[in-house]
Amino acid sequence: MRTMATWTTSATLALRADATTRVADIDARAKPGFHGRKSDGKQLLGERGEVLAALQEKLYAGGRSGDHRSILLVLQGMDTAGKGGMVRHVIGMVDPQGVSHTAFGVPTDEEKRHPFLWRIEKALPAAGQIGVFDRSHYEDVLVVRVHDLVPQEVWEQRYDEINEFEKRVVESGTTIVKVAMFVSLDEQKARLAERLEREDKYWKYNPADVTERSYWPKYQEAYQAVLDRTDTELAPWYVVPCDRKWFAHLAVTELLIDALEKFDLSWPPPDFDVEVEKKRLAQA
Ligand code: AMP
Ligand code: MG
Repeated sequence: MRTMATWTTSATLALRADATTRVADIDARAKPGFHGRKSDGKQLLGERGEVLAALQEKLYAGGRSGDHRSILLVLQGMDTAGKGGMVRHVIGMVDPQGVSHTAFGVPTDEEKRHPFLWRIEKALPAAGQIGVFDRSHYEDVLVVRVHDLVPQEVWEQRYDEINEFEKRVVESGTTIVKVAMFVSLDEQKARLAERLEREDKYWKYNPADVTERSYWPKYQEAYQAVLDRTDTELAPWYVVPCDRKWFAHLAVTELLIDALEKFDLSWPPPDFDVEVEKKRLAQA
């Protein structure tokens, strides 16, 4: 049986950032546009996952046959927002052959010797791929801004540099789906506490994450600036409340389906004569 749960407003419309988005007012427990419970959401995720996988296969097939287009999913959010889980639960539903995944940490010595977009450019998805960024070039105006890792006049310029860079990427055939993942301060505390309670979660715990909590207002300010200055028609931001993981997974699945549907993909035509090949095979 199909679920009764529905989007009353499409995810793309309900989650799209706009000039009125105030980071400080985001309700991380909300499920904008979606009418349904966790059990509904989980069932729907399975159904929509099949749609996503079918579209991704077409994208991949096209990429193997000369279609240069690709998707770039940018996951940006505070620690514990659920970036890793998003990759496992959403990207995990598609064929890994067609995925290129990059997690961006503190820049290496080599990366530090280059402009901030150098490592980003190198990780862009090839034709037919869904590229996934777990953190991204936005760290260079988030953690970098919050902790004054470069002078203000340097990070100030980066918003424009990012917009120019993304424009170039989009014009080259890559649709960028930018997802800002918001977890509440309370939920973050609960998720960090869980990491301290379970042997299988210690590896995710980083004592520095607790220190970062005291910078929450500065991070909110930095996220606000990101939305204010880098939300463009070509590369829009989507605001995804993440206290309910099932909602976040369902939401990003929908955003990816929408982006892929806009490609209006078709199966690559054969570059051989099908009838001739059938005869040859029959005789082989
Ligand atoms: P995690 O995602 O938990 O593996 O942590 C990666 C860490 O790398 C986070 O603390 C980020 O803030 C940090 N990071 C990522 N990019 C940058 C950057 N450009 N400059 C400084 N720190 C960064
Ligand atoms: Mg971490």
